[in-house]
Amino acid sequence: ATPTSIMVGTGKAAENGILFKGGEHLERTHQLETIILDKTGTITKGKPEVTDFTGDEKTLQWLASAEKGSEHPLAEAIIAYAAERNIELMEVDHFNAIPGQGIEVTISNKHILVGNRKLMEDHQVEVGGAEQELIDYEVNGKTAMLISVEGQYQGIVAVADTVKETASQAIRELKEEGLEVIMLTGDNERTAQAIAKQVGIDQVIAQVLPEQKADKVKEIQLKGKKVAMVGDGVNDAPSLVIADIGIAIGTGTEVAIEAADVTILGGELLLLPKAIKISHATIRNIR
Ligand code: ADP
Ligand code: MG
Repeated sequence: ATPTSIMVGTGKAAENGILFKGGEHLERTHQLETIILDKTGTITKGKPEVTDFTGDEKTLQWLASAEKGSEHPLAEAIIAYAAERNIELMEVDHFNAIPGQGIEVTISNKHILVGNRKLMEDHQVEVGGAEQELIDYEVNGKTAMLISVEGQYQGIVAVADTVKETASQAIRELKEEGLEVIMLTGDNERTAQAIAKQVGIDQVIAQVLPEQKADKVKEIQLKGKKVAMVGDGVNDAPSLVIADIGIAIGTGTEVAIEAADVTILGGELLLLPKAIKISHATIRNIR
């Protein structure tokens, strides 16, 4: 491989908004066989909005107050929803985030949980009647969270995030380049499948805890595949490092950008097939 043609290749990529940290990453991009994409903030815009809320006003107040301490995009959506309804937030005495599950909070000596089924199961909260409502949200690609106060189920809040306009086209082009495309997410299986279907992804790995994302990447590498991981979040950083090529979304967190080998500006997913094409054109010219 001549250093000059690699430089021309990374230069061409940079002009398009694809920033390689070094020429060796362009050569490895040429060898990729599998591309794994995070869901929230990578395939979707990462700006979720509350679409449905079942519960009384008091529950909404507990819910929004509880989420005040969370930095999760889901929390932002809930707080915005409560603000629009002029709900006053209460003082939180104790806040605990449970990765991949939700939050556990104490407000006015009351124990409050907001999160998924697993969180409620682990705390023996009975949510029997809510199951069908949960499923209805999930098959429509929404993320639904359950709320309990003092161990009693109180309501559901459902949040939807829109997929990026160019996601389907980007995924189609990646497949045309011969790549296997996989979605990886902490969200539940049904929601993940619904979003995957919207963008043309047929392989989904869902309900993965943040600390297990890198293990999933490793598993695919152990099958002998050269793997790229694309992500935006702090919890994607270990998988960006472990992947043969880590690709950060430019609109994502600083931590993800630091951990990656490549950054795509503006989070434009069409830059993914573009990067693959540039790597092929460059390396083919060398040989
Ligand atoms: P993603 O890969 O989509 O970013 P996460 O691993 O961050 O997913 O979260 C997985 C699940 O945990 C969410 O879908 C949600 O059910 C629950 N969860 C995480 N954070 C919160 C929160 N602040 N409030 C309620 N639920 C949460
Ligand atoms: Mg994300």
